[in-house]
Amino acid sequence: MKSYMVKRYSSIEAYVPGEQPRDLDYVKLNTNESPFPPSPKAAEILGGGEAENLKLYPDPEGKDLRDAIAKRFDVKRENVLLGNGSDEILAFAFFAFCAGEKCVFPDISYGFYKVFAELVGAEYKEIPLGSDFKINVADYENAGATVVIANPNAPTGLALTADEVERIVKTNPDNIVVIDEAYVDFGAESAVPLTKKYDNLVVVQTYSKSRSLAGARLGFAIASSGVIDDMNKIKYSLNPYNINRLTLKIGKASIEDEAYFLMTTSKIVENRIYTTEELRRRGFYVLDSKTNFVFARSAAVPGEKLYLELKRRGVLVRHFSADRIKDFVRITIGTREQTDVLLAKTDEILKEANNG
Ligand SMILES: *Cc1c(COP(=O)(O)O)cnc(C)c1O
Repeated sequence: MKSYMVKRYSSIEAYVPGEQPRDLDYVKLNTNESPFPPSPKAAEILGGGEAENLKLYPDPEGKDLRDAIAKRFDVKRENVLLGNGSDEILAFAFFAFCAGEKCVFPDISYGFYKVFAELVGAEYKEIPLGSDFKINVADYENAGATVVIANPNAPTGLALTADEVERIVKTNPDNIVVIDEAYVDFGAESAVPLTKKYDNLVVVQTYSKSRSLAGARLGFAIASSGVIDDMNKIKYSLNPYNINRLTLKIGKASIEDEAYFLMTTSKIVENRIYTTEELRRRGFYVLDSKTNFVFARSAAVPGEKLYLELKRRGVLVRHFSADRIKDFVRITIGTREQTDVLLAKTDEILKEANNG
């Protein structure tokens, strides 16, 4: 069929999300969701009176939720921007700070950065990670371009320290540095405190991983008020009511339930340590993750084969075909029970590989 799409976008390579099978029968360890339900306080919202209010538009400024987030992070409302998932925050940032101009990010990182860079016509450069898969901080000092880094990085799971992030922010005073902290709550150092010291830093976080709310679609940015204003101009040019009423309330209840957050994130960290040890015992090379996933390579079974064999046995993990990482699989940390299923199926596959 003839394509009617404008030339500018006709060859765009869109982001490919991880598989989301409709039947929930899989042990689903492929898209870094939480295995735990959201805070019961967030779930209560759904049975409350807010459903009736859906006839009314939500607060376009999301004031109550921004206040709750500001309180949690010891910043002000004017330092907080809400997004329909942190993907939307990233979109705002790419439009505001990269469109038609220079930006840099690691060659192995969240696949969406390249998609956004293409979408906004950025002049982008992918900076190779070291052979140990680490980000080399010096590569980003005085970058002369907007810098976008996931910290911890995905899919490697490796983290920079706050001091290392500060070196990057400090040496790029004329450019925005976006630090995507989707996984920071599982053990890395956050750069949020640095936003008080540096006007050029944007820290992005999400409710999707550590707050068990991937389905609610909620993310936020913390930055100096001028930078938030600039991203707001993009938001109000695209989708002023970007967060629905229920999600505004759920987000507030969730961020105020610190005890539940600490309980669930610490369980994930505990199980990550267990998963890492067990995979290493089975001969896997596993990077030192500070996230809710591990990035692991089997000496015996190639990444794609491991992914397919696990899927056949009802366990979904993620495989990336990019050359440098095609031997690996990325495994979300679920419950201990889910990990034990993963390990049992892995044992079957390793046994077959050894016999074949
Ligand atoms: C999951 C993820 C996101 C997107 O999160 P949403 O809030 O669900 O849109 C952003 N960045 C990284 C690095 C992620 O892994």
